[in-house]
Amino acid sequence: MLIDTFGRRAVDLRVSLTDRCNLRCTYCMPEQGLNWLPRHDLLDDQEVVRLVRIAVTRLGVTEVRFTGGEPLIRPGLVGIVAACAALEPRPELSVTTNGLGLARTAAALREAGLDRVNVSMDTLDRETFHTLTRRDRLPEVLAGLAAAEAAGLRPVKINTVLMRGVNDHEAADLLDWCLEQGYELRFIEQMPLDAQHGWQRADMVTAEEILTRLGRRFELVPEPLAGRGAAPAERWLVAGRTTPDGRPARVGVIASVTRPFCRACDRTRLTADGQIRDCLFATTETDLRAALRSGADDEAIAALWRTAMWGKKAGGAIDAPDFAQPERPMSAIGG
Ligand code: SAM
Ligand code: SF4
Repeated sequence: MLIDTFGRRAVDLRVSLTDRCNLRCTYCMPEQGLNWLPRHDLLDDQEVVRLVRIAVTRLGVTEVRFTGGEPLIRPGLVGIVAACAALEPRPELSVTTNGLGLARTAAALREAGLDRVNVSMDTLDRETFHTLTRRDRLPEVLAGLAAAEAAGLRPVKINTVLMRGVNDHEAADLLDWCLEQGYELRFIEQMPLDAQHGWQRADMVTAEEILTRLGRRFELVPEPLAGRGAAPAERWLVAGRTTPDGRPARVGVIASVTRPFCRACDRTRLTADGQIRDCLFATTETDLRAALRSGADDEAIAALWRTAMWGKKAGGAIDAPDFAQPERPMSAIGG
């Protein structure tokens, strides 16, 4: 198992499949993109599947989420999902995506064994989308959402980052729209993980502000007995509303900055170039790619992974005065 000195157990593996992306969200990367990882440094599909297999069969991982960069631009994604779905015990499989190309691939991903998708969408306004992502591609994201729903990748979850003065006024409209469509909306506090190091604590839209904005239109009731557990999102039921298929209407807020959930964290992360990170905010990594490529056997790799997680710190403490932003941006870690 992947346990640390604080007794936490990592069962949720985030796998970044690429650091590249077809959008340029302002809170994530600069307009010109980044110095992408060299191709030969990236794990190939078989290497990815082997590491996921080691995690699932030897280390107690039960959930695998593919992310990036943009995971849908990885040509081998469907095959990777299919290979991971064939593992015993079968892990829960999901993808976090910006939704571009999902209209084309949702059915194939479902067929391959994908259970769910999280689609990142920050606005329903085409111009605001263009401003935020520097690309005019909102209609493709909306088509991707509809395709995911139709393919049965349910419940479709939407991740939204609110930026002050850009899309923060849309919080309640986004929730209204998601409830009508049957999508589960989660707001994410903006974190200091942008490649250009432009994050400012004072500019960030806090969970409290988000809840205040939503509270003007909706009555939110903390979800009874759900607890937060290891889930980063605190969830509220939206009183008097249900989803089109009769489920209780919910909204989540991931308050990584103002209400960090490190104490219950159950994550372990694998970057596209084969490095284990025990936290989004880790400043050190463990190189599994070197071990893989020098012929290490499964148990030796599992041992390296266990050691990497054993040293996990208590928390990222973004609000602490001595907080240091990690060198790798979110897009290269895998959000
Ligand atoms: N490209 C995919 C996407 O956008 O969903 C997957 C990778 S992206 C890095 C994963 C998630 O991280 C997205 O929901 C995105 O909104 C979020 N994200 C990126 N930069 C962030 C930041 N600085 N603070 C908070 N969330 C961020
Ligand atoms: Fe790309 Fe996702 Fe970063 Fe936006 S948040 S630039 S979609 S990796």
